[in-house]
Amino acid sequence: MRKLKLFRAIIMGAPGSGKGTISDRILKRFNFKYAATGDLLRQNVKMKTPLGIEADKYIKAGQLVPDDLIIKCILNRVSAIGNDSWLLDGFPRTIAQAEYLWNFQPVESVIQLSVPHDVIIERVKDRWVHLPSGRVYNLHFNKPKVPGRDDVTGEELVQREDDDPETVKKRLEVYDACIKPMADFYRQLGILAEFEGRTTDEIWPKVQTYLEKAIK
Ligand code: AMP
Repeated sequence: MRKLKLFRAIIMGAPGSGKGTISDRILKRFNFKYAATGDLLRQNVKMKTPLGIEADKYIKAGQLVPDDLIIKCILNRVSAIGNDSWLLDGFPRTIAQAEYLWNFQPVESVIQLSVPHDVIIERVKDRWVHLPSGRVYNLHFNKPKVPGRDDVTGEELVQREDDDPETVKKRLEVYDACIKPMADFYRQLGILAEFEGRTTDEIWPKVQTYLEKAIK
């Protein structure tokens, strides 16, 4: 694992674009702490915390959780990381969130993954997750070693309720509506790095090369 200068980054991409898998590879290669708002929210839903109970309605409908709820949750997490490099996944999702984060803690880089929607809809049907860690598997190209079980803990894998094709379509619409203004915001700041491809294996080498240069 490479030691790097303090580096704070965001990864953005539609649901099912491979963000989780690319993030996983980044964490294996570079020394980042990681926070994914989707994972944080799902853990809260599972534990039935006040945040989880409130967020659950929005998540099930494929809608965004209100800004005030999610901002509090993620800024607590970022503060807890302290003086380490980090990678945020799933946050920000709105301009208000982006501006809030920028005022709280500017970032060095925003990695944006672009994968065609038809590829995503097919891919998400076969996606299984390990809820406590957020580890993601796919029955076609990233199978668990034992069917239905997490490779690291052996615990049960589940399919996300919001991964059914209708909810995925809704989530992609929500994503499309948000992404353009957010990409413009970060492009103007000169920190947006865009990566296109149909598969994670196509996108990953480009991200890796970019990060190797960016963190020198
Ligand atoms: P994800 O795992 O990133 O696809 O997130 C799953 C769901 O959690 C989303 O469809 C939203 O309902 C909610 N969510 C995650 N991150 C955010 C965010 N930054 N703002 C609002 N809602 C979010």
